[in-house]
Amino acid sequence: MAEREMGNASTQADVILRGGTVLTMDSSRQVISPGSVVIRDKCIAAVGPVGEIDAAYTASTVVDCTDHLIMPGLVNAHTHMPMSLLRGLADDLRLDVWLYGYILPVEREFVSPEFCFLGSLLSCAEMLRGGVTCFADMYYHEEEVAWAAVQAGMRGICGETVMKLPTPDAPSYEDSLAYCADFLEHWRGHELIVAAPAPHSLYMCNADIFKETTALARHYDVPQLVHVSETADEAENWVASTSMSPTRWLEERGVLESKVVAAHCVHVNDEEMHLMARHNVGVAHNPTSNLKLASGIAPVAEMLKIGLNVGVGTDGCASNNDLDLFEEMRLAALLPKGVTRNPLVVPAVEAAAIATIYGARALHLDQLIGSLEAGKRADVIVLRTDRLYSRPHFDTTGLNIYSRLVYTAKSCDVRDVFVNGRAVVRDRVLLTVDERKIMEQADQLAERINRFFVAREKSVLEKLVAIGGLQQQETFEVQAKGIVHDEVAFERALHHPEVRVTQHTSRDQYDTYFIFDDPTQGRLRYREDAVIKPDGSVEPVYNLTLTGPAKEAEYESSVVLSRSRFTAPADRSLRFYREYFQPKAEREIVKHRERYHIRYKGVNFAVNLDRIQQPAQTQLYVEVKSRTWSKQDALRKASLISELLNILGAQPEDLLQHEYVDLFAGN
Ligand SMILES: [Zn+2]
Repeated sequence: MAEREMGNASTQADVILRGGTVLTMDSSRQVISPGSVVIRDKCIAAVGPVGEIDAAYTASTVVDCTDHLIMPGLVNAHTHMPMSLLRGLADDLRLDVWLYGYILPVEREFVSPEFCFLGSLLSCAEMLRGGVTCFADMYYHEEEVAWAAVQAGMRGICGETVMKLPTPDAPSYEDSLAYCADFLEHWRGHELIVAAPAPHSLYMCNADIFKETTALARHYDVPQLVHVSETADEAENWVASTSMSPTRWLEERGVLESKVVAAHCVHVNDEEMHLMARHNVGVAHNPTSNLKLASGIAPVAEMLKIGLNVGVGTDGCASNNDLDLFEEMRLAALLPKGVTRNPLVVPAVEAAAIATIYGARALHLDQLIGSLEAGKRADVIVLRTDRLYSRPHFDTTGLNIYSRLVYTAKSCDVRDVFVNGRAVVRDRVLLTVDERKIMEQADQLAERINRFFVAREKSVLEKLVAIGGLQQQETFEVQAKGIVHDEVAFERALHHPEVRVTQHTSRDQYDTYFIFDDPTQGRLRYREDAVIKPDGSVEPVYNLTLTGPAKEAEYESSVVLSRSRFTAPADRSLRFYREYFQPKAEREIVKHRERYHIRYKGVNFAVNLDRIQQPAQTQLYVEVKSRTWSKQDALRKASLISELLNILGAQPEDLLQHEYVDLFAGN
């Protein structure tokens, strides 16, 4: 119980939190009421019944905690602190659309050291007021996160993100790794901050990155933070591409030999959970974020049953949208009950442990924090229990107190917060951060981000650019289209002495056109181009093409100098683009295409013989196209196209001006 120094003279301490209900969260879950907690320097000097502490200790500051709960500070096991500045920016979206469509583009544009410092300070203020004394963060410019936490007087693991893509603070992962090495060295042994590497996730990293981050984590004996199996897709894709579960992959590469904190673990199987338990992997469960992004619900009851160290986290504010650990603690108790239809799983006392001592264990910091025990660091919070919703008080089983904490207490009940022995919140006043100033600065930044987004959302092209991969620049082409009545004549024309076929392919094309409210935005086409190889196998290629609205010019024989076109490989699903671009309408065209590359009078043309399958058409169509770059060039090619159409058997009355999507719009 209390490490008391016996004798008549009482021992001088700094602070005594006196006369509250003390929830120690020690191994026997001892509750002392009325009890006191003694703080001396950075540590808890003693915990015990109020009479014993009164007899043994005096302190310059004695805080009356009558009708209050004294407990360990809450541990937020997973967050991205600077993202508080993106709170409420883009909600009700699927994870991939949210991440690739909104968060990554805005991060590329706005994330700077100043952004990270300000956002972290805002988050620290919110968390401290809500009784959170320790966090595990993953973001960029993590040095700034660390400085903000030190200024706010908060404890944390600051994980510098490493991924194979360029990040806001590193053009390559080698640069991120170099940053990590320097960052870990600089903060080594700091009393509040643990600098750590944070390989973002398996899908955003590679074996090389994990090898380096593991070496760093082991050398400095610090945790490494990683997202694991947040969504079903992510886990399934990993198994499909490596024939191994994500956890097994991490084990085989030696990553689990370091102190790993794995965020989410929503889609992990039994074998993975046992592997994690064997390697003492900490799990950061993020119930609100997983619900909000519809990722699923982690098997927390099973994890606890096999002895996995499970903490609870808020995740970043862009996917939560607050940093309220009371809410997470409550969901950690409620969700497993709903999922397993068993109200006995994750009882309140266990949920309280998840938010404190288990969380500390998950972060590999339980030797320092997580419970109120003499010798541990003084991370202590005091909660009022005199609210309407916290009355009446029962004490029938010894566990009622945990029910009050988990099922009814709120973050606004936090009255005092001590971190590392220092008072950072007293009487609900935050002592370390100028709240008004950071709110003003956050508002100013939000105005800039708002302008950026409003402008972007109006332009399909800018939205296309924002998700990256726009490889092909604007192109122009001259083209003409007509009905082919005689397929045999068409084939024969390809053997015309002046027509040289240089290449021939067969393909099925599945086109989905996105139509927008504003016609000046043009149209976006998602195409699956299934090229049929000589052996009959099919190799689909996916691309996105934005076609501008206006025809630039028309020439003889309905030859059209068409529209600006932007093309990008489509490396995401049609569903992604649909949710991201939110078109007003969609149209589908499916066709079989025989494509010929020909040379006619020294000029290259593409000739397409198209059989439209959806909406089904009885006639065949021919298209002749050529890229062009000047009006002069276009004029010459337009005239050659007229000649070609003639050779190919399309009569002038069969020529068409419109694209298929417009021709068959009514079908
Ligand atoms: Zn996260």
